[in-house]
Amino acid sequence: MRNILVVANWKMNPRTLKEAKEIARASDDKRVVVCPPFIFLEEVKRTVKKGKVGAQNCFWERGGKKSSFTGEVSPGMLKDIGCKYVIVGHSERRTVLKEEAKVIKMKVKAVLAEKMTPILCVGEKKEKESAPEEIKKQLKEALQGVPLKNVIIAYEPVFAIGTGKACPVDLAEKRKLFIKSFLAKIRKKGEDIPVLYGGSVDGKNASSYVKAGFDGLLVGGASTKPGEFERILKKV
Ligand code: PEP
Repeated sequence: MRNILVVANWKMNPRTLKEAKEIARASDDKRVVVCPPFIFLEEVKRTVKKGKVGAQNCFWERGGKKSSFTGEVSPGMLKDIGCKYVIVGHSERRTVLKEEAKVIKMKVKAVLAEKMTPILCVGEKKEKESAPEEIKKQLKEALQGVPLKNVIIAYEPVFAIGTGKACPVDLAEKRKLFIKSFLAKIRKKGEDIPVLYGGSVDGKNASSYVKAGFDGLLVGGASTKPGEFERILKKV
C-alpha cells in the first residue's frame, strides 16, 4: 500500500501564534507535514505529535563559516528545530520572488546535505501542449547531477494554485505519468519517487487525485481552514 503524504503549506498565514496553534492542533495526523511560516515552526513542532513539520523555504548555504546572509534561515537551523522536509521552488517563489533555476538547485542540494527531504514544486504556467517540456526543464534544472536519495516532487500547475480551479484529474494524471517516466530515465527506480498533486485541493476533489495515483497532496489555502483540512484528510 502507498504511504499517502499530505503537505500543508500555510504560506504567509496565520497572523497570530494563537491561531497557528489552533490550526496545528487540527492538522495533527501521521500523514501530514505541516509547513508553517518560520516564526511558528518551534510552536507547531511542539503541538504536532503525530505528524511532521517542514519549512516553506530555506537558504542555499548551510551556514557555519559562510553565514553572512542577513535575514536568511539555513537548512541546518531547520534541521535542528526538527524539520524533516523543505518545500523548494514553489511557483510563488519562482515568480513573485524571482527565484531562478540555479538557486532552486542549490537549495535542493543544501536540503539534501542536511539529510532532510526537499519537496520540489514543478508545474506549467498555462494549460498548453508544450507543458511537458516546461515541466521537464524544471526537473532537469533542479535535479540533474544531484544524488536523488530523498526527494519528493509536487506537481503544481500554476493555473490551479490559489484559484479555486483545480487541474482536471485526467490532465493531472497525464502529467504525473510524464514526471514519473522522466524520473525513471534519470535515476534507477526513479518511478518510485513520490509525486504529489497541488492546486486548489479541497474536501470535494482531494480523493480523486489519490485515486489517480498521486502519492499525496500539497494543500495551500485549505490547510489553514481546520474544517476543510479535516475533510481532505477523511477523503485520502
Ligand atoms: C500551494 O500553496 O502550493 C497550493 C497548492 O495552494 P492552493 O491549495 O491554495 O491552491
